[in-house]
Amino acid sequence: MGVEAHLGNNIITTSLEKLVNWGRRSSLWPAGFGLACCAIEMLVAASARYDLARFGSEVFRPSPRQADVLIVSGTVTKKMLPAVIRIYEQMAEPKWVIAMGACASSGGIFNTYAVVQGIDQYLPVDVYIPGCPPRPEALIYGIMKLQQKIDNEKLRG
Ligand code: SF4
Repeated sequence: MGVEAHLGNNIITTSLEKLVNWGRRSSLWPAGFGLACCAIEMLVAASARYDLARFGSEVFRPSPRQADVLIVSGTVTKKMLPAVIRIYEQMAEPKWVIAMGACASSGGIFNTYAVVQGIDQYLPVDVYIPGCPPRPEALIYGIMKLQQKIDNEKLRG
């Protein structure tokens, strides 16, 4: 059935901004990168049981150049920090960051000189997900919150 036949006499109007945001929020591709225990929950979220595919986000990309969401899932040590920043910098614009779990958000239980006390000191975090570890449902909720944020973004440039 063609689009004409399907829509009949109905007319759909929208703004370019809404259309672009809809496309972006419906196909968030996370970078396939995990740091610690939280990463296991992140991987489980993509399984058939939790079905991250409903949000177009099950395509974890092995290359940051094909990804637009960095899910910082786990403890960020100072030794690992340059790699996390490098991955973020290599990702395509526009891009977003989710701090998944207590460690990524605030250092969690690791209040030591070797652990970053919140990745937001180095990257612009869009969504924080509490928990140690957050369950896959919490990550899915975080992605829904990110989608709501993208819905209201203004087109840049
Ligand atoms: S928040 Fe908890 S589960 Fe997640 S990386 Fe830290 S210690 Fe592990």
